Amino acid sequence: MTIDTDLARAVRAAVAGGASSDDFGAIPVPESYVGAHLRAEDADTIGKLPREEKRPSLAMHVGEVPTPELAPDEVLIASFASSVNYNTVWSAIFEPVPTFAFLKRLAKTHGYGSRHDLPTHVVGSDACGVILRTGAAVSRWKPGDRVLVHPNYVALEEPQGHDDAILDPDQRVWGFECNFGGMGELCVARGDQVMPKPEHLSWEEAASMPLVNCTAYRMLVSPNGANMQQGDVVLVWGAGGGLGGFALQYVLAGGGYPVCVVSSEAKAQKCREAGAEWIINRAEEDYRFWDPETGQQNPREHLRLGKKIRELSGGRDVDIVFEHPGRDTFGASVFVTRRGGKIVTCASTTGFMHEFDNRYLWMFAKTIVGSHLANYREGWAANELCRAGRTHPILSRSYPLSEAGQACDDVHDNAHLGKVGVLCLAEAEGEGVLDDELRTLHLPAIRRFRS
Ligand code: NAP
Repeated sequence: MTIDTDLARAVRAAVAGGASSDDFGAIPVPESYVGAHLRAEDADTIGKLPREEKRPSLAMHVGEVPTPELAPDEVLIASFASSVNYNTVWSAIFEPVPTFAFLKRLAKTHGYGSRHDLPTHVVGSDACGVILRTGAAVSRWKPGDRVLVHPNYVALEEPQGHDDAILDPDQRVWGFECNFGGMGELCVARGDQVMPKPEHLSWEEAASMPLVNCTAYRMLVSPNGANMQQGDVVLVWGAGGGLGGFALQYVLAGGGYPVCVVSSEAKAQKCREAGAEWIINRAEEDYRFWDPETGQQNPREHLRLGKKIRELSGGRDVDIVFEHPGRDTFGASVFVTRRGGKIVTCASTTGFMHEFDNRYLWMFAKTIVGSHLANYREGWAANELCRAGRTHPILSRSYPLSEAGQACDDVHDNAHLGKVGVLCLAEAEGEGVLDDELRTLHLPAIRRFRS
């Protein structure tokens, strides 16, 4: 079901009619808007269910939420599309903590921070849309600009963040650690989160990129991450998923050799089509990195993975492991990395408490690199590569906002390929393209992950 409100109709008409900046700035902003949101009261009920009974769709509501006042350094965006990131899955199962705790913390920072502390949390860490209003302190953007939101939310008032915004003590993930995220008719972002929309992509294709694209860029390409070099062999866990699908593109574009790990032939096929040759189907291999009987790490299985990698790579070990599954795989990742190599990690989907044999780390001088999201410069660089047609979305399907819960269930169940989109003001997939020439040039790659 598409959103049918006065706001939605006015914004769609303005976009279709090529309205001026003044026209966009004159569209009335209602006191409430339709958003996919969580409710604080559900944290004590759904949030307390046993893990196996929790599903994001149980907690995801779609309905009216209050429109916040705009701070001077913010922009109000009419959101045409968003996408599901794993953080929204965490939010909707209230793990590891209910995100309402983050909103309360943000409320204590300054006057405008208090707007976020509501009994509703509009989620979504990606958005693509059109600016409707700019705060008085925003000079770079204006109403009518077609934009993406970079998910790093930081005010940079502390000195620590000025070399790298990720080091700022007040750094937050937009739509996760703050309110008014991308899954709604409207969203609110800081002016220094905004980036130009890649105009050869539809709203939902563009919206499926920023968070995973910038995270993979920082992890692999940036000197703040693994600083990959041409010729590096990179083990990519989950190469058919959100982060891994971009990691694969960066390894190939940077002259590296990806070793892709996936759990189905469908995902393996997408990796092949993208240009990967060395692919491991972990479901077929049936690795047991943790021995199911003893509950201990299983070094023989680490060795088996290492042998498989050497078989594929003509005897080379991996220079970099692109890690995010966490507890299930981390011991194996440390083991298979070459002497002096790097394990770059941004997550622990299967568990935060890792275990690895430290002898393989210290005696072979390996490095574990922690990486989180990306600063604005890294996010911008990643977006520019997309705008130039050098990297492409990995969107497989989209759901209307009314089915945001199901969209999150797909990711929660690992039943998805690449990325799952959410249509907000977009009425159907494929809208919003302005640059048909660049699109035509890259259409097979843009649509590679489509179901
Ligand atoms: P995703 O689209 O669900 O992809 C994750 C992939 O991991 C899946 O496709 C799956 O691939 C693989 N996987 C799942 N369980 C596994 C296991 N037991 N062993 C090996 N591989 C496994 O999610 P995503 O967007 O890529 O995000 C992945 C994680 O990174 C999440 O925890 C997310 O919260 C985190 N993240 C962190 C940041 C940050 O800035 N810190 C940013 C983005 C994401 P196969 O089943 O095909 O092997």
